[in-house]
Amino acid sequence: MKSLLATALSGAALTLLTGAAQTAQAAEPFAACLSQLRGPALKAGVSGATFDRHTAGLAPDMAVIGLLDAQPEFKTPIWDYMAGLVDDERVSDGQAGMARWQSELDRAASRYGVDPATIAAVWGVESNFGRTLGGRPLLTSLSTLSCFGRRQAYFRGEFFATLKIIQDEHIAPDRLVGSWAGAFGQTQFMPSTYLRLAVDFDGDGRRDLVDSVPDALASTANFLKRAGWNPALDWGYEVRLPAGVDTAGAGRKNKRPMSSWARQGVTRADGQPLPGGDTPAGLLLPAGRNGPAFLVTRNFDALYSYNAAESYALAIAHLSDRLRGAGPLTQAWPTDDPGLSRAERRELQRLLIAKGYDVGEPDGMIGARTRQALQAAQRELGLPADGRAGQKALKALKASAAAKGPG
Ligand code: CA
Repeated sequence: MKSLLATALSGAALTLLTGAAQTAQAAEPFAACLSQLRGPALKAGVSGATFDRHTAGLAPDMAVIGLLDAQPEFKTPIWDYMAGLVDDERVSDGQAGMARWQSELDRAASRYGVDPATIAAVWGVESNFGRTLGGRPLLTSLSTLSCFGRRQAYFRGEFFATLKIIQDEHIAPDRLVGSWAGAFGQTQFMPSTYLRLAVDFDGDGRRDLVDSVPDALASTANFLKRAGWNPALDWGYEVRLPAGVDTAGAGRKNKRPMSSWARQGVTRADGQPLPGGDTPAGLLLPAGRNGPAFLVTRNFDALYSYNAAESYALAIAHLSDRLRGAGPLTQAWPTDDPGLSRAERRELQRLLIAKGYDVGEPDGMIGARTRQALQAAQRELGLPADGRAGQKALKALKASAAAKGPG
């Protein structure tokens, strides 16, 4: 019976069923765990009334434990990552957002010393300018992660921080939704980061990173200031390397004076002179010697500290340049199959739907369903079925649709 059931269900449905069964099984240990957390929560500054009121109806969501343990099944190449995060759409949305919130951005820039384009670039990469906040209730996710799985001690701190945010009436519990790990709001702060760094910038007495754009923008600026942002520095530059330059010393952390790079013949890709002097700068080669090259300053490290990934920091840095009016990178990524913008991803998804594949909504997000559908379509077209949404796949789908003709 069991094997019959397994063959009758798709993998996804089976996972859901298992998740529901796990959640039912977890109810009793979860309740016992919550009662054990009450004392530590009170020690952390949560009142008994707050704890009782906001844990009363909580049920665990074991799906987040699955997400905690999930290994990424698909490694995103840097050119796909950058193509989706820094596309024309995000540049125009960001410029519109900067115009809309200009006085708040200027005020945040003068108070925290972080320029408007950098603040807006973080906002754009973190939440697509407030459009993508995540949908999981923080109290549910963080209480589950406090009681099951790896890193319970860490997540307990975040759970108690969430209860404090609610206790202080800054953000209503039903607005506290976010990623499975608890990052929330337009800045995607963790709750403990919120407690340390969020600011009230619209003057209503509440630090609200969900529904107040001014609070979110200023909190981002405050984060970067505290991470060491220096208003006198650029984040860095795309650069060109002379033939034969020694790239053995490449690396964000391996900083040398800007002047020593200039002496080796490194130049800015946009033709502007490299600032000379002692400013420490590291050579970043995200795709190796044959891809785009960058010299990055300590301000790049401040961006890095937001999410601890160089590709992430580079997306913010490059988007900030684009928001200031600069063009795309001048050097190509070392691939014959570049990545797709979100508009192109939606087009690829619509082409898959037209071929009869189920990818859900054409939302420009390449998830497991889109990759599976693309693999099947690639097989149908006699192409290598790698499921990667790049320019070659889009071109092949377009050609196939054109050959078939309308209707
Ligand atoms: Ca406020």
